[in-house]
Amino acid sequence: MSDRKIYSFYKGLFPGDVLNFSKRSPFVKEIMLERIYPRRVILPMKMHYGVPAVPIVKAGDLVKAGQCVGLPEKGAFSVPVHTGVSGKVTDIKEITLPNGIRTPAVFIENDMKRTRLESLKPRTNLKLSATETIGIIRNAGICGMGGEGIPTAAKLARARGKAVTDFLVNCLQSEPYSTSDLTAIVEYPDYVVMGAAACARAVGAKKLYFLISSGRKTERAALAASISRAKRDFDDLTFEIKLFRERFPQGYYRLVGKALYNRDIDEGETIEDTCDAVLFNCSTMLACWEAISDNIPMMSRIISLSGGSSGGHNVLVPIGTPVSELIANSFTEDSTENRIIWGNCLTGIEIEDPENTPVIKMTSVISVVRKAEIPRTACIHCGLCSECCPVSISPNIIFEMLAQGLGQKASEEGARRCISCGCCSYVCPAGIDLTSAIAEFANKGKVIETNSLLDNNAADLDYSVLPAPAAETSLLEDYDGEDKEEEKTDDDAIVLPFDGGKKI
Ligand code: SF4
Ligand code: SF4
Repeated sequence: MSDRKIYSFYKGLFPGDVLNFSKRSPFVKEIMLERIYPRRVILPMKMHYGVPAVPIVKAGDLVKAGQCVGLPEKGAFSVPVHTGVSGKVTDIKEITLPNGIRTPAVFIENDMKRTRLESLKPRTNLKLSATETIGIIRNAGICGMGGEGIPTAAKLARARGKAVTDFLVNCLQSEPYSTSDLTAIVEYPDYVVMGAAACARAVGAKKLYFLISSGRKTERAALAASISRAKRDFDDLTFEIKLFRERFPQGYYRLVGKALYNRDIDEGETIEDTCDAVLFNCSTMLACWEAISDNIPMMSRIISLSGGSSGGHNVLVPIGTPVSELIANSFTEDSTENRIIWGNCLTGIEIEDPENTPVIKMTSVISVVRKAEIPRTACIHCGLCSECCPVSISPNIIFEMLAQGLGQKASEEGARRCISCGCCSYVCPAGIDLTSAIAEFANKGKVIETNSLLDNNAADLDYSVLPAPAAETSLLEDYDGEDKEEEKTDDDAIVLPFDGGKKI
């Protein structure tokens, strides 16, 4: 089921590093997957790449878990937003997320009754066309859970339009102390595999590859067992587990493209065009199968809580849970650990206001780290930053150019290739924050690049024609099967006699 080759890109941070990326067994063994049910949720209308959804509830409304509270405007590149708790809408107002995004948000006070929308019942008819599958995923509000939050339906539709042959599932979670994706694989392997198989079939890919670190034996075994079961229903697909060396940041698409296909994906190019492949995060695949099989929209996710005093901890939380509630539930008081990071400790953003900062669809980890002042000196030209940079640029030289306002020269030196991985700042003995300056410069260019990629392909996306979900209906009822774009044939149907994954 897996070839013996172990793939990797060059450079990055290595196993055995002080952050202990690969030997996290003490952390992994401490993992407990528990549910946290917050007193209130804050649901930003923009948790995805695209324009914000528009709230469709008002203060005073009573809502049920699974109910849609925000919808995209007609034709907008956006996804709906659903609540994972029942209760009362207390406010709708603009908030600023730690990444600087300003967005309207729906505030809901949890009545702790866990009342679900009646229509959230497992789907009985799993004979779905590609357009229906993509429509369900779109209506479920699913966006990429491991990256920029690109709407999954749009990415699937684009991959289908480009007739990719390979469907890649990123199980390579390599950020320090973050194991939410790995926990998803161990706890819900059938959901990950079935979701990936259904999506692969929807885009027309024939080969389904699960990319995972060679050292992840438990997760590999869980995937292998699920693949054996899924093969019965997806005999038109070939399944394979591809092993990678554990190294940070292993799962980035350009590095995957280089490692797996030995292809360089340049700025402005996609993995679809360059490698005939499309790459999705494994937690996103789990969410897709929840929507397809159980009719459940994206309203909760697994996240890791990491911090010295509490060790490792994975929790299943409603989207919108305030970080302060996670911290209160999971960490012992420790005055030395008082920097809260929205994300992992290499690339995350420090939170100023945990009371009003929610877990969003892309939050995979909340880290609590020591507040230590790092001594800063001038560059000592040790070259460590260049040695570890996974995209082979020279962070120290680019940093100096940017400090002198030489943006054009920095571009020529490859600054726009920066993937904001944080490795250079982490290894710098002079304590220079190279990443912030270089990543900010690179990301300005990337917004334009990503926008144009999506806009240029908007015609192929078939995205705006998908029906918008009504607030009170199920994803199934909403999708009435009027499939004007595609004739449904037996070959195209997805038959899923699925007997359930491992639920907790
Ligand atoms: S320059 Fe960018 S890609 Fe290179 S190590 Fe620094 S943050 Fe990572
Ligand atoms: S790691 Fe820091 S000190 Fe060493 S060359 Fe890079 S910027 Fe200079």
